[in-house]
Amino acid sequence: MRYRKSQSILPGRNGPDALFFFFLGLTALFSLLGVLLREVGLLALAILTVALCLFRLLSRNLPRRHRENRIFLSIVTLSRLRAALREKRERNNPYLYCTCPSCSSRLRLARKSGDFTVTCAACKYRFSIHITK
Ligand SMILES: [Zn+2]
Repeated sequence: MRYRKSQSILPGRNGPDALFFFFLGLTALFSLLGVLLREVGLLALAILTVALCLFRLLSRNLPRRHRENRIFLSIVTLSRLRAALREKRERNNPYLYCTCPSCSSRLRLARKSGDFTVTCAACKYRFSIHITK
């Protein structure tokens, strides 16, 4: 579907795809930061990423550009899946963890919302903690 759509805009060329828009976003980010921070290196990166955008847009090597785009999408999808799994694991964990402000020991607390006074098992330091769900 996307292939046919890009074919109608730029016949025989790769056209815009997800990796193109990723590089376009990087171009905008590097340009903005380069101007705000007055950093020539960031502006050079912006030029490099816009060159990659144009290269991808106008490339005639469609199998290779499609393969690169598929790899990019699989990386993005995998990181989203990992983040969702991590969030689900944290949500289902009956405990939460904090560090003692005195000795930096890792303390395991029951996941209950409210204000509590915690006593460190290692150094017996007492401190208050507010837990929100
Ligand atoms: Zn402690």
